[in-house]
Amino acid sequence: MVDPQIAQLIEKEKERQENTLMMIPSENYASLAVLEALGSVVQNKYAEGYSGKRYYQGNINIDKIETLAIKRAKKLFAVPHVNVQPYSGSPANAAVYFALLKPGDKIMGLALNSGGHLTHGYPKITFSGRYFQSAQYEVGEDGFLDYEEIEEQAIAQRPKIIVAGTTAYPRILDFERFGRIADKVGAYLLADISHIAGLVIANVHPSPVPYADVVMTTTHKTLRGPRGAMIMVTRKGLAKDGQMGKRIDRAVFPGLQGGPHENTIAAIAVALREAQSKPFREYGKQIVKNAQVLARELLRMGFNLVSGGTDNHLILIDLRNKKIDGKTAAVTLEKAGVVVNANAIPHDPNPPYRPSGIRLGTPALTSRGMKGREMTQIAHFISEVIKIPEEIKMVKNIVMKMTNQFPIYKNI
Ligand SMILES: *Cc1c(COP(=O)(O)O)cnc(C)c1O
Repeated sequence: MVDPQIAQLIEKEKERQENTLMMIPSENYASLAVLEALGSVVQNKYAEGYSGKRYYQGNINIDKIETLAIKRAKKLFAVPHVNVQPYSGSPANAAVYFALLKPGDKIMGLALNSGGHLTHGYPKITFSGRYFQSAQYEVGEDGFLDYEEIEEQAIAQRPKIIVAGTTAYPRILDFERFGRIADKVGAYLLADISHIAGLVIANVHPSPVPYADVVMTTTHKTLRGPRGAMIMVTRKGLAKDGQMGKRIDRAVFPGLQGGPHENTIAAIAVALREAQSKPFREYGKQIVKNAQVLARELLRMGFNLVSGGTDNHLILIDLRNKKIDGKTAAVTLEKAGVVVNANAIPHDPNPPYRPSGIRLGTPALTSRGMKGREMTQIAHFISEVIKIPEEIKMVKNIVMKMTNQFPIYKNI
């Protein structure tokens, strides 16, 4: 063993993942085939540029890998142009802004505490809020997006780009409506489907492709690939600006990045092949079914859910009626082997480090093969631990029994 310290920590992390219920909705378990591509010799190669136009020699195989990843993404999402080089979701959004906006132009995105992402124009501390003007829309008191209000705000604010995408919104997004709003005010529409890409492929969430100019997704969430991202230009985007694909590519390299992580791109290609399969579509459907069972059971136990339930892979619990804050709840649940994250609820009266809610989701549990029966039990675990913290040990033991029945990786 070359490095026993790190080897041991990796082994411990594997045990932690095996023995806990991973319910952070942005997390998942990539397949062994994806991990194999990630850990391959492909990572040794520098490949600045794009297939057929590299700044280094020796890219004969790399070109084929990247071309295949792009081909699979185009087919799966039905888009004419794809860039698979962004290092992750945040730099991918930066590249979209870099390609389509000038510094000081206005971004209109969903506010963080309404379920948006930092890169959607969060003011003051993020690049998207510092180098651009930002106008943030919010969800209503009922937890739903109010499209009338978004339209009014867009008309008043005249943003150059509208971002439709969420990290903590349990409902379907009406991309068609967003498309009409963007058209009305002459803004680009960026659909950020980082969380829901796998659901879009499985046809359990409508695709934004007909309505957006650009679609961005991370590849490691419901898509279940390596950590990375893709930027897709739609037919609508190309009709607006025939050079949009080129502009995106130039913004990624040389605009923002140097050498692409081709091992990641190989792993993205593997994940996209997996996502083309019928079992993957079944997987996407089961994610939503599981989330709905979990929501129903949590409601039965007296939990308040933001928006009253879920249409997708995640649930946001408003804990104020339980006399516990989100951070304390998340820390307590982790001791029982249930891993969730503290999260702001819409219009949260509490500060961001001690928000009033927790966010939990089903993509990773569904990858392990868990179904409605397990979701019902898990709702009980959550209720028990929050009501009677003395029960932590007992719950942890039952969680271990459950996780043992659903191994993630049977042979590593
Ligand atoms: C996860 C996420 C991102 C950022 O992805 P990173 O890979 O963490 O940088 C951007 N937008 C949305 C909506 C996300 O959910």
